[in-house]
Amino acid sequence: MKAIDKLREDFPILFQEVNDEPLIYLDNAATTQKPKQVLEALNQYYQQDNANVHRGVHTLGERATSAYEGAREKVRQFIQAHSTKEILFTRGTTTSLNWVARSFGDQFVEAGDEIVISYMEHHSNIVPWQQLAKRKGAILKYIALTSEGELDMNDAREKITNKTKIVSLAHVSNVLGVTTPIKELVQLAHEVEAIMVVDGAQAVPHMPVNVQELDVDFYAFSGHKMCGPTGIGVLYGKQHWLEKIEPIEFGGEMIDFVYEQDSTWAELPYKFEAGTPNIAGAIGLGAAIDYLTALDMSQIHAYEQAIVEYVLPKLQAIEGVSVYGPSTTANHSAVLSFNIDGVHPHDVATAMDMQGVAVRAGHHCAQPLLSYLEVKATARASFYFYNTLEEADKFIDAVIATKEFFN
Ligand code: PLP
Repeated sequence: MKAIDKLREDFPILFQEVNDEPLIYLDNAATTQKPKQVLEALNQYYQQDNANVHRGVHTLGERATSAYEGAREKVRQFIQAHSTKEILFTRGTTTSLNWVARSFGDQFVEAGDEIVISYMEHHSNIVPWQQLAKRKGAILKYIALTSEGELDMNDAREKITNKTKIVSLAHVSNVLGVTTPIKELVQLAHEVEAIMVVDGAQAVPHMPVNVQELDVDFYAFSGHKMCGPTGIGVLYGKQHWLEKIEPIEFGGEMIDFVYEQDSTWAELPYKFEAGTPNIAGAIGLGAAIDYLTALDMSQIHAYEQAIVEYVLPKLQAIEGVSVYGPSTTANHSAVLSFNIDGVHPHDVATAMDMQGVAVRAGHHCAQPLLSYLEVKATARASFYFYNTLEEADKFIDAVIATKEFFN
């Protein structure tokens, strides 16, 4: 990976003061900052190539189409999909998961079928399944967690049964920072002929992901959590499923032929992409993928592991601070949820912001998880590859100062 000082220069936003203190941005699980290379790609598109895709035969139309489809190929390579037919551009993880629930779910789930998720899911991987279960009279089941916050594999073996149609799980939790053994779960799901859907929002930005090796049926993630723009995301689906399921949005671009009373659909992946897509977003995501690939995803993962190994024991050692998630770093990404005893996490986040440190407070869109942990809210610091060990030290100092301020 490039030297950290050099690499930080790509992110001008990091060089500012907040409340008269140098900004330390530790809210990367919510959204990440964008390097100049991504901003330049967006500018270049709007300043030189802006046109609609797949339509005009004119030069700008061809340039826009080739940049948009080029971005699809970059995504394919990044997650090692078999074909670009399996890469659908969406608005983000939430939209991707809703598409699966609406298309696969409405077509194949019947009354009495079971959908299996877990207690660590983000609302985006809960609410679409609740709605599907209601529409169909299906049953939504939750896999328990161990005392370390990891998925309880014994419970997974019990919950995934012959009645299961869909298993949908987070690859990495946005609250606990644990990674789920997706490959093992895919096997359990496939043994009972269920499909495996993965919420990869917190995985794809931080580690190499190979969808073919994992053998998942659907995989969802968001561009803005991996240095790309907001409003663009991806749904990967195995080709044979995408061929079987119906689109859920209809209109221009997704049709082959429109008759008076009926229509036929375009080939994959266009069958799912109705209307003018987020062309600039896809191009920006392509530039983000180029950026991450040049840094090397394995190295990004190793660097973030070094950060968590450095900072987690320091956070755990502060008296009066509760840390949620695994107690060791063996299965712990650089997402740290914590509370200062007796202080509301919103007050923690406000006090830390006064010290220039941006952390998030709240339920992190995971209310069933927080109920399960018997807490109302937590503060959360989430690191990315552009954060430094010095910033980790300042974060620890800010937690201690905040604790002392309120006690
Ligand atoms: N799933 C997880 C694990 C997340 O962390 C998030 C975002 O915080 C989402 C889903 C939803 O992502 P988006 O808001 O980009 O659709």
